[in-house]
Amino acid sequence: MSLFHRDTPEETAFRTEVRTWLEANVPAETLHELDVTNPEVSREWHRKLWQRGWIAPHWPREFGGMGATLEQQVILMEELARVGGPYVQPSGLNFLGFAIMEFGTEEQKRDLLPDILSGDTTWCQGYSEPEAGSDLASLRTRAVEDGDDFVVNGQKIWSSGAPHCDRMFALVRTEPDPKARHAGISMLLIDLATPGITVTPIQTLTGHVHFSIVTFIDVRVPKTSILGKLHGGWKVANHVLTFERLSGSSPRHDLIAIDTLRRLSEATGRVSDPAFRDRMASAGIDVVAHMAMHRRAVERVKAGQSLGFMASVMKIAGANALHNVTDLLLDAAGSDAASSFKHTDNGQELDPLGLFLLSRRATIWGGSAEIQRNIIAERILGFPRSWR
Ligand SMILES: Cc1cc2nc3c(=O)[nH]c(=O)nc-3n(C[C@H](O)[C@H](O)[C@H](O)COP(=O)(O)OP(=O)(O)OC[C@H]3O[C@@H](n4cnc5c(N)ncnc54)[C@H](O)[C@@H]3O)c2cc1C
Repeated sequence: MSLFHRDTPEETAFRTEVRTWLEANVPAETLHELDVTNPEVSREWHRKLWQRGWIAPHWPREFGGMGATLEQQVILMEELARVGGPYVQPSGLNFLGFAIMEFGTEEQKRDLLPDILSGDTTWCQGYSEPEAGSDLASLRTRAVEDGDDFVVNGQKIWSSGAPHCDRMFALVRTEPDPKARHAGISMLLIDLATPGITVTPIQTLTGHVHFSIVTFIDVRVPKTSILGKLHGGWKVANHVLTFERLSGSSPRHDLIAIDTLRRLSEATGRVSDPAFRDRMASAGIDVVAHMAMHRRAVERVKAGQSLGFMASVMKIAGANALHNVTDLLLDAAGSDAASSFKHTDNGQELDPLGLFLLSRRATIWGGSAEIQRNIIAERILGFPRSWR
């Protein structure tokens, strides 16, 4: 049974099937992997889920997905959160795939979507640059037409998963002096093995190689690799960002954090403090509220409706809910929290500090919390731009 819904007999059977399969197949050493620790294990897990038919419950059947009901999607998410599993690179499956379905040519759909599903090709996102993050339209990586190719020069940063990925969907400037700043940008699908590309990994506080700097020097990219129209990349970029905010706000991490909090606070005895239990309850209520909002957002997307500014609200609500729980995790871990990464509970490792550090990212990726608040203030609440 999920928090919002009593499983029907068919859903109970599906949940049991998923749970049994996951318990038998999740590699024990990667329980609740929060980031890529071993790219090969990650790819292998992706393949295994694909072979089982569960890698893309959210994709329509016509593109090879499971075409799952909302309840089946929730069941898979909840069971994965319960059991864990290796990290799966999300960019192709959860953001780019939908943009290819929407903007891709028939050839792109035929050639690219099956490999995203099978995990044969993994994708990373090339938006941010050293001088262009929140103000993405100021990006300077340029692509100049030359015969059948574009020649790309520039630099991307914070590209999640790039050291482990095969390709990048990158925003590049194709028109140097456009009338409007958001015009003159295109989306290119780039093979990272192309000569002239250097990927320099960046290690995070949790010790993972999550990000990288990707440098392009005279990189030739075929013109057929453009996604959407020439100079029409901003529209594609925003489509991707909506799906990124939807996917990144999934309550999966909240559920892992809540479960870790429950076990850790019992193990350390912190749960016996009534004031602490009050805070746990309050944090739990925020998670439930966030889950309800996320569920509604998924319903809207499934019905073909735009998320609009709801994506910004959901991203902030999701980050707040996750922060509340992970703050309590550090409290429950006590003085050990900062000095020791892992706590053992019945032979299982709990990682309060890892979850805490991971949760702090939530206010930055996919557009920072300040930028989302600006969007809400101006476009939902109608504040004038001059209030900033
Ligand atoms: C976990 C994670 C994964 C990421 N993955 C990717 C990826 O795969 N690909 C990719 O391209 N990028 C990725 N990013 C980068 C991310 O998109 C940028 O970090 C983000 O857009 C902010 O840009 P910036 O870091 O340049 O900060 P800046 O834009 O320099 O902002 C610095 C600070 O100023 C604030 N600020 C800026 N402008 C305003 C304003 N107008 N009003 C109020 N406050 C403002 C910001 O909120 C922020 O706090 C990732 C980031 C994280 C944390």
